[in-house]
Amino acid sequence: MTGFTPTGKLHLGHYVGNLENLLKLKSEYDEYLLLADTHALGAKNFNYKDVRGYALDNLLDLLSVGLSENEVSYYVESDIPEIYELASLFSMYVSHNRALRNPTIKDEIKMKGLGDQFSLGFINYPMYQAADIMCVKGELVPVGKDQEAHLEQAREISETFNKMAGQNIFPYIKTLIGRVGKLIGTDGNPKMSKSLGNTIYLSATIEEVKEKVMSMYTDPTRLHSTDPGHVEGNPVFIYLDAFSKDQDKEQIENYKNKYREGKVGDVEVKRYLITILENFLSPIREKRKEYNDEEKLLKILKEGTEKVREESIKTLKEVKQILNFRY
Ligand code: ATP
Ligand code: MG
Repeated sequence: MTGFTPTGKLHLGHYVGNLENLLKLKSEYDEYLLLADTHALGAKNFNYKDVRGYALDNLLDLLSVGLSENEVSYYVESDIPEIYELASLFSMYVSHNRALRNPTIKDEIKMKGLGDQFSLGFINYPMYQAADIMCVKGELVPVGKDQEAHLEQAREISETFNKMAGQNIFPYIKTLIGRVGKLIGTDGNPKMSKSLGNTIYLSATIEEVKEKVMSMYTDPTRLHSTDPGHVEGNPVFIYLDAFSKDQDKEQIENYKNKYREGKVGDVEVKRYLITILENFLSPIREKRKEYNDEEKLLKILKEGTEKVREESIKTLKEVKQILNFRY
């Protein structure tokens, strides 16, 4: 079980952070993919009217990378009222201090410049996330590194309720971090993030890829192409490593050596990166055409929602039993 906040389009960071693991595990697990539209309301400088469009666009991207509706249950948070009920019950068991101590909450406040203008719902985010996961009794949660702290909090909540029940009604929540837990942004910021605008989208056109790559941050200490350059921490090489195929590895090593020795310019390596990204993105772009139909997307959501609601109603009943809500 995992989710995305529909405040923007999906990007390369989402792919290496969790989509790749979802693809790898889809035949082994019953997968649930949530579009967390309620979470999106906590974002600052964001028009709530845009959420629906992004939710459908995210769904289109997810289907296009190869997570078909036959293998994954897709649903939207606002369609599952049991999530709200669970989240508000969970919040009774989390102290205010514990909620503010969450390192990801602290980081996001800083990174997104929220100051003291964040909503109560924003601090409550991990309680919603716990409800998202526990509603469907999620066991394995593929996420990027920034979500580790949230999952820790979800685990605490599930343990609290298991203890109260005197049995494990919720499975132990395992975190599964992607091959690249935090993909660097095109501007050199440690995290590619839709709220920072330092992204390359999975739906990017060839022109957009070229423009983004050509203006990408590389090695700020290198003024001329004959200066020895740094490969480590350089987004161009990080993306080459992350999105290339086995047959490209030798050429990449070659470029790395030449770059370190000052024997190749940024432009040549960037041109090569454009080819690598194009090889990666063009099949996704093709598949997008197959699913690009609003009616089709809404039908996929409807089917997922039916299944998830049934399970969520059951889970909520169990939790109410634990709390002795029997009238
Ligand atoms: P925002 O900046 O609005 O928080 P985001 O780009 O972080 O947006 P989310 O919808 O919050 O996107 O994240 C969805 C999932 O993708 C999470 O599991 C998150 O950890 C993962 N993820 C997001 N960005 C990256 C990244 N740069 N590298 C690896 N994983 C990422
Ligand atoms: Mg995020």
